[in-house]
Amino acid sequence: MFTSAAVHKLAQRLAGPVLGPGDEGYAAEAAGFNQVLQHRPQMVAGVLDAAEIRKAVTFAAETGMPVAVQATGHGPSAAAEGTGLLINTRRMTKVTIDPLTRTARAEAGTQWHHVVEAAAAHGLAPLNGSSPLVGVVGYTLGGGLGLLSRKHGFAADQVTAIDVVTPDGRPRTATAEHNTDLFWALRGGKGNFGVVSAIEFALVPVPHFYGGGLFFPGEFAAEVLDAWRSWTASVPEEMGSSLAFLRMPDMEPIPQFLRGKLVVHIRIAHLGPGDEGERLVAPLRASAPAMVDTLAPMPYTRFADIHNDPAFPIPYNERSLMLRELGQDAAKDLLALAGPASNCTDIMVELRHMGGALGRPPAVAGAVDHREAAFCLATLQLPGGRPDLVVEGMAHRGTGRRYLNFLAGPHTAQLAEHGYGPATYARLGEIKARYDPDNLFRFNHNIVPRAKSL
Ligand SMILES: Cc1cc2nc3c(=O)[nH]c(=O)nc-3n(C[C@H](O)[C@H](O)[C@H](O)COP(=O)(O)OP(=O)(O)OC[C@H]3O[C@@H](n4cnc5c(N)ncnc54)[C@H](O)[C@@H]3O)c2cc1C
Repeated sequence: MFTSAAVHKLAQRLAGPVLGPGDEGYAAEAAGFNQVLQHRPQMVAGVLDAAEIRKAVTFAAETGMPVAVQATGHGPSAAAEGTGLLINTRRMTKVTIDPLTRTARAEAGTQWHHVVEAAAAHGLAPLNGSSPLVGVVGYTLGGGLGLLSRKHGFAADQVTAIDVVTPDGRPRTATAEHNTDLFWALRGGKGNFGVVSAIEFALVPVPHFYGGGLFFPGEFAAEVLDAWRSWTASVPEEMGSSLAFLRMPDMEPIPQFLRGKLVVHIRIAHLGPGDEGERLVAPLRASAPAMVDTLAPMPYTRFADIHNDPAFPIPYNERSLMLRELGQDAAKDLLALAGPASNCTDIMVELRHMGGALGRPPAVAGAVDHREAAFCLATLQLPGGRPDLVVEGMAHRGTGRRYLNFLAGPHTAQLAEHGYGPATYARLGEIKARYDPDNLFRFNHNIVPRAKSL
């Protein structure tokens, strides 16, 4: 079918925009946050509700067209270029909170700030990550390593129901009792099994919150890293933290004190009262003279001030590796790769403290492995450099697994297998073969369909 005829055919079925290359608004409809990869599909459909998702997926199934899904574009791993139907969910932002059951229901295009704001009115919070602009569904399907995760686990662990349109165009609800294979696979298997139209998950109470950041000059990188990694061994599960080596470019709107040099940033998210937070962070404050200290009691709705993730679209490659431990020797290795004396060009080299509830199996099993990881290493690099350098240099300290949510850019789609243990990946492949035997959903961290072994 010629593009224009196909566009016309789907446009007749949807109220949302359906556009092909050359149509006005096509580029804006396909654009995403991380510009390192941009979809330029055969056609893009901006769906308005679950019924439109069903119609769009059915159309793709009828015509054998591969499908890409985008909510915000924070995690692109493969671009649809010259082929495929891109389903853009960003108009679907309805959030419903049930304070009695302490659950939230979020539509496909919801971003974390939508849920955090709605839940805060009831003293509750989701297991969101560092950025308010990241999509709830994409984040959660990849596991979801959040600010409160050491206390409450991966976001995927808290999911209670998922409405999904599978590649055959059928709407299904996956729970611990219904479509249990899908429920298992979707929680960790990312966008391989259809288009999620809405997701339901448990919220957690947040009576107090203490957080913010400490910024240190790069010359103290060794002292600060050493203080932080020893400190992580002693803190309670209520304390979430990460440490990042930042090398920010000299450009607006990046704050002047961060530009053009190495700065070490410790981020704190403590689920507890201010005095307890102050007591716990004292050894970090004592590790070196801070340039900026924003640690204080805060409403959880201000969580974006903890990491200060970029709010403007930029192109970057993202890599990750789960670490077994972060002893003295591992810290030395990391300093050699990314410290002040290195020639590292990554704009960010980040370590997130794991353990606690992240290390325990969830009440209902899913496809998130990584329970044995002690730290998650993630790097961000602007295009043009060598994005794998730090992760490869630390590979001997790793669990052998990558965290798929922190893998973005060209050549990352094929790394899906590295996100799982062999048994999990094999089972994901079997479930993929059942729901998407032709791998129509392939513009993602792609799980290759595989026949069940006899
Ligand atoms: C600044 C920043 C901060 C981040 N912080 C964290 C963090 O703290 N913790 C963490 O775990 N991750 C974090 N991430 C990673 C983020 O969770 C992933 O990139 C996630 O995939 C983004 O989802 P999205 O929908 O926003 O992005 P998109 O690029 O729109 O989607 C990414 C992929 O998710 C899948 N997907 C999205 N919506 C659907 C749907 N409705 N149905 C089926 N599949 C779908 C698709 O495969 C799609 O290719 C961060 C990323 C950035 C850029």
